[in-house]
This record gives sequence, C-alpha cells and structure tokens, in this order.
Amino acid sequence: GSLLAAHDLHKTYGSTPALDGASFSVHPGEVVAVMGPSGSGKSTLLHCLAGIVTPDSGTVTYGGRELSAMSDAGRSALRRTDFGFVFQFGQLVPELTCVENVALPLRLNGVKRKEAEGTALEWMARLEVDDVAAKRPGEVSGGQGQRVAVARALVATPKVVFADEPTGALDSLNGERVMELLTESARTAGTAVVLVTHEARVAAYSDRDVVVRDGRCRDLEYAV
Ligand code: ADP
Ligand code: ADP
Repeated sequence: GSLLAAHDLHKTYGSTPALDGASFSVHPGEVVAVMGPSGSGKSTLLHCLAGIVTPDSGTVTYGGRELSAMSDAGRSALRRTDFGFVFQFGQLVPELTCVENVALPLRLNGVKRKEAEGTALEWMARLEVDDVAAKRPGEVSGGQGQRVAVARALVATPKVVFADEPTGALDSLNGERVMELLTESARTAGTAVVLVTHEARVAAYSDRDVVVRDGRCRDLEYAV
C-alpha cells in the first residue's frame, strides 16, 4: 500500500485557491516528480503532505495515521524522525557550521556529536561539499548550500524526502549527483522521494510524474 497519501485537498489563502481537490500517493522506495506551471499549487501540496500546512479540507495519511488527528508536537516529532527536507528558503541554520547543520537530524534523534558529525561528513563527501564543513551557510555559494541541504535531508535515512526544486541552483553535473543520491536512497533504503521540479532532466530520474494544474491533481496511482 501507499506510505503517504493525500485525498481531495483544498486550501485557500485569503481569496486565492492554492489547492482545489488534490489527491496524491507515494509508495516506499518510489520517486515521484510533481510538475506543473508556476502558481499551480505544487509547493502547497508538498507542505500539506509534510504536515507543515494544514489543508482546509481533505486528508493526509502517513503510515495509516491521519496527520490532522495528530498534535502539533506529534507532527513535529514525525518530521524529525521520518522526514527529510530540501526546501528553497530558510533551510539551513545560519548560526551552525555546515557539518553541524548536516549532523542536526542525527543529533535531534539522540546520536552523539562525534558519530553524527562523522556520518555527516561522509554524506558531504558524496556531494563534494566536505571542504565547506567548517563554514557557516552564509559563507558558501548557493549551489554548495543546496548540496549541504541535500546531505542534511538524507543523513538520518528518512522514510520520506520532500524536495522543492532540489537542483535549482546546481550545474548539470552536481544536479545529476543529487538525483543519483536521491534515487539511490529510494532503491537501497526504501526512501519515498517527493520532488517538485520544472526540469525535464530531473523528472527523468522519477518513477512517476504527477501534474498539478489549477490546484488540482488526479494521481492516477491513487490508492490508500
Ligand atoms: P507552485 O509551487 O506551483 O508555484 P504554490 O503552492 O506556491 O504553487 O502557490 C499556489 C497559489 O497559492 C499561488 O497563487 C500562490 O501565490 C498562493 N500561495 C501559496 N502560498 C501562499 C501563502 N503562504 N500565502 C498566500 N498565498 C499563497
Ligand atoms: P516556488 O518556486 O516553489 O513556487 P514560491 O516563490 O511560489 O516558490 O513560494 C516560496 C514560498 O513563499 C513558499 O513557502 C510559499 O508558500 C510562499 N508563497 C508563495 N506565494 C505566496 C504569496 N502570494 N504570499 C505569501 N507567501 C507566498
């Protein structure tokens, strides 16, 4: 069955409808690309799936549990233990070094500092950003910051990774490296990857594409 599913989501900001009947599902180990024009509701769908935005109506079910039935604390605990994020804005903690940022999901799950930072450095090396380990996010380039964020999203072997334009700031070689690591996590660790993208070269790595249009997406694979 599906790991994460949304059924008939509606969400309005003021008088702006962002979602108008969106259904979606993803299975463990599956890479799904969410595509569609700018303003069609892709980011809002991602935020609802991750329990960051509460839909006005409709349901999001993760591992058989409805997110709306959980407390705020329950949802943030879930994000900490089960989800990884690569978002465009405000993703890295500016006061921490890059390696501390990548180690953070492990630290929050109780892993000791030395071990957490060792694992963090391995992921940073895979993304070729281990050389900026001691720098703060404000001191690295946009592309380096994005790869640091990808390392942080994958370091704790999440059940689901949410990625909004994960290759946006990257040249094609680093974009491919990021997509290879995301798909490898899906294959080897069973991580479900939900990514928003405009780029065909990114969608080429997905198992399935879902198109959002005017806040609606009819996920043909949809099944709870
Ligand atoms: P996409 O990711 O496809 O570009 P979004 O989900 O970001 O689409 O936005 C869908 C619609 O909802 C747009 O009209 C956008 O301006 C609006 N919207 C999204 N987030 C907010 C918000 N926090 N406040 C007000 N309007 C928003
Ligand atoms: P994307 O490139 O993913 O479509 P956006 O620039 O649309 O990103 O949105 C970036 C952030 O701003 C998101 O968190 C989104 O929810 C929020 N946002 C989008 N549109 C609006 C809006 N009209 N008013 C306020 N916040 C918005």
